[in-house]
Amino acid sequence: MTDSAASTPGSGLRVGVLGGGQLGRMLGLAGIPLGFSFHFLDPSADACAGAIGRLLEAGFDDEEAARTLARQVDLATFDFENVPQATAQACEEICPLFPGPNALGASQDRLVEKDLLQRLGADVPRYHPVASRTELLEGLDRLGYPAVLKTRRFGYDGKGQAVLRDGEDLERAWQQLGDAPLILETFVPFEAECSLIGVRGRDGAVKFWPLTRNVHDDGILALSLPGVFGARLQGQAEAIMSGLMDHLSYTGVLTMEFFVKDGELLFNEFAPRVHNSGHWTIDGAECSQFENHLRAIAGLPLGTTGMVSPSLMFNWIGVMPAPGQVLQIPGLHWHDYGKEPRPGRKIGHATLTADSTDGLHETAEHLASIAGGDFPQLLDCLLSAV
Ligand code: AMP
Repeated sequence: MTDSAASTPGSGLRVGVLGGGQLGRMLGLAGIPLGFSFHFLDPSADACAGAIGRLLEAGFDDEEAARTLARQVDLATFDFENVPQATAQACEEICPLFPGPNALGASQDRLVEKDLLQRLGADVPRYHPVASRTELLEGLDRLGYPAVLKTRRFGYDGKGQAVLRDGEDLERAWQQLGDAPLILETFVPFEAECSLIGVRGRDGAVKFWPLTRNVHDDGILALSLPGVFGARLQGQAEAIMSGLMDHLSYTGVLTMEFFVKDGELLFNEFAPRVHNSGHWTIDGAECSQFENHLRAIAGLPLGTTGMVSPSLMFNWIGVMPAPGQVLQIPGLHWHDYGKEPRPGRKIGHATLTADSTDGLHETAEHLASIAGGDFPQLLDCLLSAV
């Protein structure tokens, strides 16, 4: 290899990823054409990213293993936001880590996260910290029913949270969650949920994909549809994200989730990583969230984030249709993560792309009828007017 080839970023770059789930796997799939290779750290011997890179089997709290990973690569990132900050710092002692451990710290605690976003000027649902039963009662006095009680840390996909509609719910939720530090939020009767995904390069350049409308089933993302919100909300969401990116001196892909209530955005949470609601970008955008995350952390120019065609993503949770049943649908792009199916587990997704919105709705209705379960109703909700 000549010196110039060796010094070209992207040529043989070795990327370490803390986490080896489907997000790591899709990062790897996007990075291989760039000439990158991948090393993953994950506690499971059968982590699905292991199929496309080297897998170091170790717990996320194993700081020595993080150092070992860091010695094998040129730079590192993570696909999971609950990596302990100390593990991220151990990795960063040896090789550059993007985004930095400060982004993990800000996103791992719902109270710290909401305080920060409020300071940065975002509208946030009213909330109350809860460290005791007395504080829970004070919070309910202040916010009223209905409310949502959540663990401050380690919550995802609706886990570690309960909706409180009356005193009975309160007792049940307190028994279930009361051992951990909590946050009580007002229940938002939203018109829609959406997410913004953006990317910031090492040089501070930023790009954003179109806001994506999301529908959840039992707290887990079921469907995503980009490009249905106007320029006003897009601009507001981008301004909030830019503020957070600057505050954190951020590098890489960042995701923010919002409720839309009375036509305005209310911040829910952010994730310092690529996100399930951005999977449509693999097949529906000029440059996917995965490729742009890698470009950003490698110091390469960012790719264009525009939509190339109307797109809609179906998430397969625990069960998915047989590919033979659905691959004849025009514009269907199939993604099987190679994971053992289990209830509540994300095992794959499909993105539909089409030449027109009407064509997209038609194929989406066809796929929803084959997928069955709640999909037909969830799709009606996704396609309803905002
Ligand atoms: P989270 O883990 O906070 O993103 O919550 C998962 C899902 O639960 C969200 O996408 C919403 O559908 C619902 N949810 C969470 N917080 C609230 C809230 N304060 N009001 C209404 N729904 C909520």
